[in-house]
Amino acid sequence: MAAATAVIGIIVAAVLIHNAATTDFGQYLQQVAGMGRMMGGGAGNMMGVNETAYLNSISKSLWTAGIIAVVLAVLTAIYFSRRITSPLRRLSAAAGKVAQGDLSCRVQSGSSDEVGVLSNTFNCMVDSLNENQTARRKLMGDLAHEMSTPLSVIQSNLEGMLDGVVDASPETISSLHHESLVLSRLVKDLRTLSQVEAGRLNLLPAPANLGELASSIVTASEPEAKRKRISLSLEIQPNLPEVLMDPDRISQVITNLLSNSLQYSSEGDAIRISVTENKAGNPENRSLLVTVGDSGQGIAEEDLPHIFDRYYRGVQSKEKRAGGSGIGLTVVKELVEAHRGKVWVESVQGKGSKFFFTLPLPPSLPPSSPLRVGVR
Ligand code: ADP
Repeated sequence: MAAATAVIGIIVAAVLIHNAATTDFGQYLQQVAGMGRMMGGGAGNMMGVNETAYLNSISKSLWTAGIIAVVLAVLTAIYFSRRITSPLRRLSAAAGKVAQGDLSCRVQSGSSDEVGVLSNTFNCMVDSLNENQTARRKLMGDLAHEMSTPLSVIQSNLEGMLDGVVDASPETISSLHHESLVLSRLVKDLRTLSQVEAGRLNLLPAPANLGELASSIVTASEPEAKRKRISLSLEIQPNLPEVLMDPDRISQVITNLLSNSLQYSSEGDAIRISVTENKAGNPENRSLLVTVGDSGQGIAEEDLPHIFDRYYRGVQSKEKRAGGSGIGLTVVKELVEAHRGKVWVESVQGKGSKFFFTLPLPPSLPPSSPLRVGVR
């Protein structure tokens, strides 16, 4: 297009210059002839052989210059269009490969112009797609592992009962119940995470008593704590106001924190849960504070900044036979933040961990940004 415009421009310029030269030179010759007649000479010849040759020479030079300019314009246009289109063609081919699932292809991005920037952005996009795919594959493996353990315990015990080699004692039934709870917790976490990823995490908030909720979860976890010989205690500050929350979701938060404490603690360790009013916060933004502390393994310093990240599993978790999935704390964070609360952790490896989360008390909830309410 640019080349065509240049060619047309050059041809128009050549024709105009040629016409102008012919006309102006013709007028000039007429003037010279007129002056010759006035001075008594014969009728002047308007255009002799020399003048015609002169005009032809100008015309020839003009056409030669025009043709050279046209050729140069076309060559330059081809050069620049190749420079722009060939990286774009490479990019388009690479995008086609990525669309077919080949995440190993990258494009060269040597230049610093717009095409170079586009190539760099494309490479970054493929890198992050690759990381996501690796994390998802790892999650699938971890989940399969996480689910297979409780399932095989349930299956083998039930088969033993059917064959009459395992007693249907309260202990056996309690252990089967525990395994089924592990499975349902995992499925619930996966469902919550998929809702978060789809932007469809809806809450059903209602004023509720956080202390009572924590108490019921602690009671439900007592058999497991007893079995593992871990002491479990709960402290609830008296006369706490009700908090606006989705009890099912906050129950999921406390259950995840408590299950982690039970998982990463061993015989003789202690787990303490408390529900108090948050004294550290701004008096105008009152909130309740839940603490789940344990004297278990603690968290390695290098893991601490990442434990709330999606699919992140700490060193201890990876070493465990029936490892985790790395989504429990992600779900905790998402749910607490959806309630406009905060969650954080303090931990010393070998000494234990303390997880904290806050839930704002109703007056601090800005009316303009209500909790996301919906139907599950
Ligand atoms: P996982 O399924 O691996 O437990 P989570 O998201 O629940 O995944 O936790 C992420 C990581 O945080 C765990 O892999 C573990 O390293 C660490 N972690 C969480 N809670 C505790 C705890 N109470 N004590 C020690 N480490 C913990």
